[in-house]
Amino acid sequence: MTSLVFVDTTTAPVEAPVDVPVASPSRPVTDDGDHDRFAHYARRDDVTRAYITGDAIVALCGKKWVPTRDPEAYPICPTCKERRAAGWKL
Ligand SMILES: [Zn+2]
Repeated sequence: MTSLVFVDTTTAPVEAPVDVPVASPSRPVTDDGDHDRFAHYARRDDVTRAYITGDAIVALCGKKWVPTRDPEAYPICPTCKERRAAGWKL
């Protein structure tokens, strides 16, 4: 299988807070919880709008949340990374 890599300027990594009910409830949090935080790929336009309106956005991996933080501090979501590398677009 050939993997295609797109340079897509319309997607940007954005951070997702851990307090979204998508996280698995069965796994106990044993430290500060930051291990559950990832930067997700989402449409830049959506992110910009979300910062202004507070609306939730949908990431490439399907995660829906309201971006609030600087994504630089977090690792890229593995699912987002995988799908982006496979040519997925939002
Ligand atoms: Zn993701």
